[in-house]
Amino acid sequence: MSHADLTLVVPAYNERDNVRPFLDELSRALAGRDERIEVLFVDDGGSDGTWDEVVAVARSWDDGRVVVRGMSFSRNFGKEAAMLAGLEAARGDCLCIIDADLQQPPAVALEMYDLLLASPEYECVAACQRERRQGGPVGALSSAFYRLLGSASGMEVLQDASDFRVFRRCVADAIVSLPEYHRFSKGLFAWVGFRTLPFPYVPEERRAGKSAWGLRGLVSYAWEGIVSFSTAPLHAVLAFGIVCAVLALAMLLVTVVKRVALGVDTPGYATIVTLILFFGGAQLVAIGLVGEYVARTYVQSKRRPVYLVRDSVSSETSDDEPEGGETR
Ligand code: UDP
Ligand code: MG
Repeated sequence: MSHADLTLVVPAYNERDNVRPFLDELSRALAGRDERIEVLFVDDGGSDGTWDEVVAVARSWDDGRVVVRGMSFSRNFGKEAAMLAGLEAARGDCLCIIDADLQQPPAVALEMYDLLLASPEYECVAACQRERRQGGPVGALSSAFYRLLGSASGMEVLQDASDFRVFRRCVADAIVSLPEYHRFSKGLFAWVGFRTLPFPYVPEERRAGKSAWGLRGLVSYAWEGIVSFSTAPLHAVLAFGIVCAVLALAMLLVTVVKRVALGVDTPGYATIVTLILFFGGAQLVAIGLVGEYVARTYVQSKRRPVYLVRDSVSSETSDDEPEGGETR
C-alpha cells in the first residue's frame, strides 16, 4: 500500500502496554468498513520497550486493511516533535493525530473521519472535550490560558480542543511547511487556519502507564504557547515602563514645585528604597522577558532538526526502511 485513506499518527512515549490494545480497538472499530488505514507509531525515545513492541507487532501483522508502521527517535524529543515526524511520514489522504493511551478511542477517530468526509466544506474536525478531564483550578487555568492565547495572538484558538484531530492533507502540508523549532501545535493549527469543525467528545481514562505531564510540564507548555505565538508580553512590559516613567516625572515635578514654591522638604528614605527595589525588579523581569524571545531566536538560528530518527519499521516489507539519518 503506497498510500492510505487515513493515517493515524500515534505519538508514543513509554506506551508499551498500549500498543496492542490500541490496534485491537482499531480492528474492532474497523469491522464492516473497507478503508485502507495506516497506523504510524512514533516512539519518542522511551525506555520501557515501546519500540520493541512496535517492531514485534509490525513484523507479525496480518490484517490486510491496516498497515502498521513505526519510527523511533534517537532520544525523547517531545510530543510536538513526534507529531511533526508523523505528519511528514504519513501517506494518507486524511490524517489523524491520536494518543497511544486510548484516552482518545480509535472508534471516535473513525467517527470524526466520517464527519470530515461528509462535510466537504471543512478541512479539519477537531475533538473538543465536552467535560474537562481536569476540573478544579487546573481546568479553570487551562480555559483561561486558551482565552488569553486567543486574545494575545489575535488567532481563533478553539476552546478545549486537544491535538486529537482528523484533517485533510492540505492542512498537514501547511503544518509541516512551518519551519519553527519551538512547536506548539494548537497554535500552529490555529495559525494555518482552514475551516475546522468542533467535535464534542469525552476523553476516556488512560489505559496503561502514566501521563507524562506534571504541573511543571503544563506551565512550561502554556508559556511556550504564549511566547511562540504572541509578542503581547513585550508590549505589556513596554506599556508598563511608559506608565512608570510618566508617574516618576509627575512625582519629580510635584517634589520640585513643593521645594521651590512652598519650601517643603520631602523626607522619603523608605520610599526611595522601596521604589528602587520595585523598579530594579521590574527591569529584571523586562530583561528576562526580552531574553525569552532572544533565546528562541538563538535556538532557531542554529537550524537544528526538530527530531532525529534512529530506526523505522513497516508491516508491509520484510526488510525495514534504512536505519537512521532521517531528520527534520
Ligand atoms: N507523548 C510523547 N512524548 C512525550 C510525552 C508524551 O510522544 O514526551 C505522547 C504519549 O505517549 C501520549 C500522548 O503524547 O500518546 C499524550 O501524552 P499523555 O497521555 O502523557 O498526556 P495527557 O493525556 O495526560 O495530556
Ligand atoms: Mg493521555
